[in-house]
Amino acid sequence: MKETPLELKISRRMQAGVLTLSGFLGDDPRHFHEIIAEDEQTLAQLGKTPEEIAQRMQYFTDLSFDSFEEEISVDDIYRVETDVVRGKLPCPFSHPGGYRKAVTVLTNTNLGITIRWSSLNLHMIQAHHFFEGKGSPFRLEPELLVKVLF
Ligand SMILES: [Zn+2]
Repeated sequence: MKETPLELKISRRMQAGVLTLSGFLGDDPRHFHEIIAEDEQTLAQLGKTPEEIAQRMQYFTDLSFDSFEEEISVDDIYRVETDVVRGKLPCPFSHPGGYRKAVTVLTNTNLGITIRWSSLNLHMIQAHHFFEGKGSPFRLEPELLVKVLF
């Protein structure tokens, strides 16, 4: 596949040490287009869209955002906490501005599974259908999200 200058720029911004220390691709050898396409396909098989996933994540982040770094209980089975730290993270897809460094930690107590996401994860899933590469510290597996969030 021939890459456009913008795609080359995005690929570069996803590398470790460019925007963030660990980057967005982990040890995944695939192009970001392939990562996105496969995750979209996985979600389609599960009957969900990236937008639905993002909407659900946003719901939990919003509810816990003003809890002043204390865990709250949501819908009986979820424990949720959002921590906001100073600074902003830029989007590797070259959106202007930055995303607050807020990290939401959610536990589904029925399953005993805890997942976490940043504001940038949420944005990238919603706007770019990007869940990050395999091995990236903030990679979110679409199957796991569907299982835990719904
Ligand atoms: Zn973006």
